[in-house]
Amino acid sequence: MAFGEEIYYGVESVELVPAPAGTARIVLAMLVGPGRIVLYDQSRSPWRLGFELAPEQGAQLQAAGAELSDDGVVSWPGDSLRRFMLGYGLAHELGHHVIQHERRLRGERGARTREHEARAEAIAARLRSVLG
Ligand SMILES: [Zn+2]
Repeated sequence: MAFGEEIYYGVESVELVPAPAGTARIVLAMLVGPGRIVLYDQSRSPWRLGFELAPEQGAQLQAAGAELSDDGVVSWPGDSLRRFMLGYGLAHELGHHVIQHERRLRGERGARTREHEARAEAIAARLRSVLG
């Protein structure tokens, strides 16, 4: 797959599943068990969110190629939505996977801390730079 092989070490499955209904936030992906990542199927572009984006999330969507209008419509030109799901959703959960996998190898528990979030996001940023 796109990110290179070593990042997938210990990954059992990456599955596309329906997004959980009625969440007032964008949920792209989740590490649901050891080596098990689910990607949440997103609505087709354009999105009418029905909730307000936090400024940092709006900025993230724009960085991923989305166009945000004043009336809350999010448009994804070209294949930017797919790239958003992979580059931000999958990549971030792969980051968690790598961290948890390392911890399990050391016999530690895989609790999520703030530091884990920062490390997962750093791994995701590196993967995004590979994706270009
Ligand atoms: Zn996270």
